[in-house]
Amino acid sequence: VKGETLADTARNLEAMAPDFIVIRHAEPGAPHLLARICRASIINAGDGAHEHPTQALLDAYTIRQHKGRLAGLRVAIIGDIAHSRVVRSNIHLLKTMGASVVVSGPATLIPRDIARLGVETTTRMDQALEGADVVMMLRVQVERQTRGFFPSVREYFQQFGLTQERLRRARPDAIVMHPGPINRGVELASEVADGPASVILEQVTNGVAVRMAVLYLLADGGARDAAA
Ligand code: ASP
Repeated sequence: VKGETLADTARNLEAMAPDFIVIRHAEPGAPHLLARICRASIINAGDGAHEHPTQALLDAYTIRQHKGRLAGLRVAIIGDIAHSRVVRSNIHLLKTMGASVVVSGPATLIPRDIARLGVETTTRMDQALEGADVVMMLRVQVERQTRGFFPSVREYFQQFGLTQERLRRARPDAIVMHPGPINRGVELASEVADGPASVILEQVTNGVAVRMAVLYLLADGGARDAAA
């Protein structure tokens, strides 16, 4: 806002000799720029609509707590696929770990090239939910949308809002996730957000440990453990 470039901001931060810089930025790729010019470890805490790696790590940790594994699970990710950094990091992680991923949302919010990442796509939410072990709901990213991608919130909820009735299509032991902040009555009903399948607040709790682990490993804790 004051006119300084991102690189100069980074140089100012570096002058205080930090070990880490945690950056959350509206521009995709901003953390990568910093990683090139800084000595400190750069942690991407979300860059535009690109990636959110620690969210995917804490999501994976939460899934493993409940399912004991990631391989072989069917994960349905539903909502604003186009503008979500959470979905991109989750696809990379879940596919790497052997889960299958299906994404669903309005046709206007599913990027055409997403299938290249090896995911199934469908505009029919019920089809995505069928047999899912994990249902991950995404917020409609109003702050990143530049035009109307669907006619109204009511219509969005009718087609893509998660209700208890809809959830019955998933496996009986399916868990419901959301990276937060949730919008009740937009992407999911309160009965689901507060219901027995919801692990949304556990995700928040797990975020503390997972992000501590990231800092620990980058501070060379892993190497120290191995040497001990
Ligand atoms: N909190 C997540 C993020 O930073 C998800 C969201 O805002 O919808 O991307």
